Amino acid sequence: MKEAAQKNLQEIKIEDIIEKTRELNPGQFDKMIFDSAQNVKRANYLYVKYKTGSADRVLNRLEFPMHDPLKAPMQELIGGSSKHGEKAVMTSDKVIRLLQDNFSRSPIAESNPAADYFDYPLDVADANNVAQEQQLYYMPNETEISSCGECTGEKYVICDDHVCGGVHNWECPTCAGDKKVECTGCNGEGENTCDDCDGGGMVKCGSTIGSSLVGGLTGSSVAGCGGKGYVMVSNGNFANGSPRPKKRKQCTKCRGNGEVRCKECAAKGVIKCSPCRGKGQVTCSECSGKGDITCSKCYGDKAKYGKIDCPVCEATGETGKVVYVATTISNNEKDLFVNIGESIAEIGDDLVLNYIDKAGSVSRSLTNINDNFTEEKDELVASHVKDLRTNSGLEINNFAKVLTEETYYQVVPVVQASYKHMLTNEILHFSIVDFFEDPKLVFHKEAEEIKSDVKDKGKKLGRFFGKLFKTKKFKSKDDKKKEIKLMIYLAKADGKIEEEEKGFLAESINSIDEFTSDEKEDFFNLMNNPNPPAITKEDVTFSSKEKLNEVIAKLTGLAASDGEIDDSEQELLSTIMSLNE
Ligand SMILES: [Zn+2]
Ligand SMILES: [Zn+2]
Ligand SMILES: [Zn+2]
Ligand SMILES: [Zn+2]
Ligand SMILES: [Zn+2]
Ligand SMILES: [Zn+2]
Repeated sequence: MKEAAQKNLQEIKIEDIIEKTRELNPGQFDKMIFDSAQNVKRANYLYVKYKTGSADRVLNRLEFPMHDPLKAPMQELIGGSSKHGEKAVMTSDKVIRLLQDNFSRSPIAESNPAADYFDYPLDVADANNVAQEQQLYYMPNETEISSCGECTGEKYVICDDHVCGGVHNWECPTCAGDKKVECTGCNGEGENTCDDCDGGGMVKCGSTIGSSLVGGLTGSSVAGCGGKGYVMVSNGNFANGSPRPKKRKQCTKCRGNGEVRCKECAAKGVIKCSPCRGKGQVTCSECSGKGDITCSKCYGDKAKYGKIDCPVCEATGETGKVVYVATTISNNEKDLFVNIGESIAEIGDDLVLNYIDKAGSVSRSLTNINDNFTEEKDELVASHVKDLRTNSGLEINNFAKVLTEETYYQVVPVVQASYKHMLTNEILHFSIVDFFEDPKLVFHKEAEEIKSDVKDKGKKLGRFFGKLFKTKKFKSKDDKKKEIKLMIYLAKADGKIEEEEKGFLAESINSIDEFTSDEKEDFFNLMNNPNPPAITKEDVTFSSKEKLNEVIAKLTGLAASDGEIDDSEQELLSTIMSLNE
């Protein structure tokens, strides 16, 4: 792991990149021209897998009423440090379970206990591994059964009801012990004035109020006289049969008085009060007519009169206390992926992650179990491991305590360089990911795709000129080099090289295997030089007269291929010939 990482961190020079590019993509390599003085950009991706075993401890306090089922298990724990020592293994957790299950009492964890509470060894499986299940330890000095402080062992305390206050039974404050209170319906009078006759005892004759009559029947003695004392009755007929005028007749109902006795109150003028049935008093509702009040919270028997169960010991008279420490073992895993070199914008994390072996096997780098402390610090990842530990909330000396650390790490180097593309004269960047182990060439922009139309034209032209190359055998590489150079001069004769010409020339240059990269670069630089040097005698000196004539014939054919030889082209041909005279 360490060796692999160190290998991946070795220096990568531009020469190494050039060589690696040739291996990875020879076809593309032929079209790339490298500046060997360029600076290489270098990213180093670091992946760290971090596994921990850790222990955390919690100090718990339990305080509880000493109910009978707890007595036997508590006997095993009490006796103090003289019997059990400062800290002792809690061989049974029966007290804790009983309190939880039968009495709904859970331990309360202390937030910042003194370090001494946790100062005892971890249970181990062997020297390098802890037991996954850790025993409970308790503090015999703080584990005890004692008389209840609240009731001083009396089991009961004075009633906490604020009215009762332990009196238990007291006189009803509403009726003051009388059991009855004044009737509010009649203000204690027992009767109320009759509303029908307003207390007079008589009502108007014929009125529907107080006379037991229903309406609409006035005008007869039965119906009453409406207070007049008489009614009008028929008086027979005249001889001719027409009725005589009606005549007055004393009202038989009121005997002419115009009023009759009030039926509602039987002419008494008052009506008996119904809530109190005329007594003027009703039963006191506060005490339900008992005259006193008894507290519902406290006992009324002689022994516990006015008292309630002690809330602290729940009437057991005793409290129990257990202080213990629980240890939990956890196993966790985290990882980290970070670039510790320069940033290379075109390379995404996702791409590099493909080169990470997430299943890489970890190795133990820290053991911190009781007195067994060994740490293998690896400078490359030490600070990252420390951060991972801190971020996991773990420490070496305190709880939560790191017990074991296992790490796996890997470095993926990425380099970036630039080149000039022969065909397009563009400066482009490319990267190599995982340079040493599983190198991958990444072009950030495909020059040839962009210039595909240029390439196509170059190919067409290339087929024509290609024949010239194939039919004539070159005796020497030197002749070939000179011919290509003159072809470039011819192509540039009219001031600039057309894109098609450039494409053709680049293909021709690349198709000749014996040219070195430096020689190809010379051709390329000449092609792109706006002010090429003047042609020298050396440039036009070929191995034989025949070769010279052949080259001039070819150049003339080339110049004439677009229909006519223009002045600048003719001038170049003349220069070549004159230099050979
Ligand atoms: Zn008590
Ligand atoms: Zn009362
Ligand atoms: Zn009443
Ligand atoms: Zn009447
Ligand atoms: Zn009345
Ligand atoms: Zn009470």
